[in-house]
Amino acid sequence: MQKILLHTCCAPCSSSTISLLKEQFDIVSFWYNPNIYPLHEYELRKETWREYMKLMKIETAEKNAAWLGSSELYEQLWLNEAVACKQGRCFFCYKKRLEETAARAKELGIMNFSTTLLASPYQKHEEIKDIARDTAEKNGLNFIYVDPRKEFYQGVNSVKKMGLYSQKYCGCKLSMRS
Ligand code: SF4
Repeated sequence: MQKILLHTCCAPCSSSTISLLKEQFDIVSFWYNPNIYPLHEYELRKETWREYMKLMKIETAEKNAAWLGSSELYEQLWLNEAVACKQGRCFFCYKKRLEETAARAKELGIMNFSTTLLASPYQKHEEIKDIARDTAEKNGLNFIYVDPRKEFYQGVNSVKKMGLYSQKYCGCKLSMRS
């Protein structure tokens, strides 16, 4: 079975995506979400991700020191750039995460990648698809498109039933208010 590097934004969103991909691919779940704010929320989601993947017996990969280190650096290195992005902060955020996923896939010699960002009905699905296709083309990789939105709530509930944490906002500092 071919491997796929699955960018994973959190455990609840990953459930439905994993169900759709696992019959066809050997999944490696990749954590890269430096936009999550504040640090204790970042750590909680990451720990939940680790625990869930362990329970699901899915291999994991992550980028070392992925959080930005301090609230000041978060403002300087992520928030300011995201807010200044002409196409909008979510575009910037998707692009950063998918570019890092493609870079890691190449390092690991994995030709296929996808993202759990496609699962949530609250995300800009078409925009994610376009960015991922473009990123795949630039990097000579295959973007595997799936649409797990129909199974999203079922997936989130299955993670909650395992007693695992499920967040109340998308992730970045600005999304805490919306
Ligand atoms: S709302 Fe969500 S997708 Fe948009 S910038 Fe914030 S964390 Fe990223």
